[in-house]
Amino acid sequence: MAVYDPKSRKAEEFINDQEILDTLEYAEKNKNNIELIDEILRKARPYKTGNGTACRGLTHREASVLLACDIPEKIEEMYKIAEEIKLAFYGNRIVMFAPLYLSNYCVNGCLYCPYHLKNKHIARKKLTQQEVRDEVIALQDMGHKRLAIEAGEDPVNNPIEYILECINTIYSINHKNGAIRRVNVNIAATTVENYRKLKDAGIGTYILFQETYHKKSYLELHPTGPKHDYDYHTEAMDRAMDGGIDDVGLGVLFGLEMYKYEFAGLIMHAEHLEAVHGVGPHTISVPRVKHADDIDPDVFDNSIPDEMFEKIIACIRLAVPYTGMIISTRESEEVRGKALRLGISQISGASRTSVGGYTEEERPHDSEQFDVSDQRTLDEVVRWLMELGHIPSFCTACYREGRTGDRFMSLCKNGQILNCCHPNALMTLTEYLVDYASEETKKIGFELIEKELEKIPTEKVRSIAKQNIEDIKNSNRRDFRF
Ligand code: SAM
Repeated sequence: MAVYDPKSRKAEEFINDQEILDTLEYAEKNKNNIELIDEILRKARPYKTGNGTACRGLTHREASVLLACDIPEKIEEMYKIAEEIKLAFYGNRIVMFAPLYLSNYCVNGCLYCPYHLKNKHIARKKLTQQEVRDEVIALQDMGHKRLAIEAGEDPVNNPIEYILECINTIYSINHKNGAIRRVNVNIAATTVENYRKLKDAGIGTYILFQETYHKKSYLELHPTGPKHDYDYHTEAMDRAMDGGIDDVGLGVLFGLEMYKYEFAGLIMHAEHLEAVHGVGPHTISVPRVKHADDIDPDVFDNSIPDEMFEKIIACIRLAVPYTGMIISTRESEEVRGKALRLGISQISGASRTSVGGYTEEERPHDSEQFDVSDQRTLDEVVRWLMELGHIPSFCTACYREGRTGDRFMSLCKNGQILNCCHPNALMTLTEYLVDYASEETKKIGFELIEKELEKIPTEKVRSIAKQNIEDIKNSNRRDFRF
């Protein structure tokens, strides 16, 4: 029988089924153990260091106890700490991005995904390079600077060469003041050699959702195609890191399996990356299964209510304080608004989940991956964020300055965020407001920027940021970044 070992490179050892079952039993036994819960909450709280703020994070066992606990006052405390952590490391900034679907050709048989091979009613599409260009221009014209490219798995239609060509095309387009400065990639698990090629193409984060950590369910949910191989899929992030990719993004498709099992698996995966590669995941995404062509989410009987979803987000925030958290337009405005206070640091806006969707006037459904709940424009999302007191950020500076992997984490840990990320967010928001925003959004934005500039602690940085912002307003553009 496989033994739990976070340092092992074998899926069955670092995501060890018995360890997860033991963790769930331990969590259930201790869910009313106030003394232990208080101790875990104390450990989770941010604390002051010589040069900033730090957090200890939680083990998968500790975090699972919190997730199991249903004492209302303790849940309130978790939410408060989650918000404190978010503010300590990410401030009130929210990074913006959009998905770009390149191709929905897929040879897998995933039961929850409309791209599955047997789905004959979905329109199969693959963007040509000219279509990639058109989509990117449409995204740039909205104001996007950061994309996550998405594709089904199909070695004939979407080989790695196609993905690399698309990345190259995306980075090459400068329409008006637009530019895509960071391309994150969400494609199927692949080889070290292909990850190295992605790294050389200049990608940001490599994102791969585990879907479920529960091996038996995984095998049933992925009955055919290369994705059926649980070990190959689960060990993908190790290969990505071996291929030189510093920033990897984890995620579970909530609703497929029991959320407590998934949660423990997710935190164990983060612990494993830290133990083996010395750096945890750059991001964690929290997608929930949605209705889609040929897919009825109700057939998966593990759907989670909004309150539980919020608790999961808060518990992830406490367990892995330095990891960014992403919520997509799968969720409604209401759910996203609450999630933002519990630790989310990145959201998508104005997403189209169909291949070629951004160049269409109306949101097309024929090649769509799932229903989008939040259907607002980017301008509406940006304004809404600012009204809630957040700063929408279009910053991609860390990646372009080579602050990836542990170098990004140390920026987080040494308290330099307010002198670095904060001015960068304000400068990129100014670019957005000047180039793309409606008058109403501009007004709210410029007022917010004035106020937020005063939070920059170092006077020299503050005065450079102010000057840069004036330059942006006066159309005197450079590559502004700290
Ligand atoms: N094909 C790639 C792979 O195998 O990982 C990833 C790209 S896929 C376009 C992105 C993600 O969408 C999947 O990993 C899955 O979690 C999610 N997804 C698939 N069907 C979904 C549905 N019905 N509702 C919500 N999310 C879904």
